[in-house]
Amino acid sequence: MNVQIGVLALQGAFAAHSECLASLGVQSIEVRTPEQLIGVDALLMPGGESSTMSQLLESSGLFDPIAERISSGMPVFGTCAGMILLASEVLDGRSDQRNFSAIDISVRRNAFGRQLDSFETTVSTSVGEFHGVFIRAPRIERVGADVKVLGSINDEPVLVQQGNVLAASFHPELSGDARLHDYFVSMTSNKKKV
Ligand code: GLN
Repeated sequence: MNVQIGVLALQGAFAAHSECLASLGVQSIEVRTPEQLIGVDALLMPGGESSTMSQLLESSGLFDPIAERISSGMPVFGTCAGMILLASEVLDGRSDQRNFSAIDISVRRNAFGRQLDSFETTVSTSVGEFHGVFIRAPRIERVGADVKVLGSINDEPVLVQQGNVLAASFHPELSGDARLHDYFVSMTSNKKKV
């Protein structure tokens, strides 16, 4: 199955995601314009700074077309800042920061491991154990009834899915482990078949 995955490349850690996908033999293209979005079957939103990404999503004209694609079922995978962009509620965000409200979770920015800024730990998920890299990570403070928790640490959710939307508070792309990307590609391939 030939799927074309887009990697949102306005800001942040997008290159490592493309490498992860390439290690699976999956092509990806960097998305910076609405034209580039048209050709993709799915979109990956990387870590970085969600408030900056929000501004760049507006100035590039990508915010509204991405919102439309998500609501018509395009698979999306957001990591860290990407998860913040997908959440329905952002706590401690900048007042002008926008989010897609694509997954029914409340996230608090920079709240996971507040005392440490960054940390690494094992994450148990439904697709196996991961070496989780957390960098000024958002904490999921509320999970809606339709959201599946796929991964957690110390009973706190860090990997969640609602339909076509997958979100992680950690950075799977930084540990050289492509299993979550593989899972995302399978979400996209299943979607293409229907
Ligand atoms: N703290 C960042 C934000 O609020 C997210 C950090 C990350 O993506 N590594 O956007």
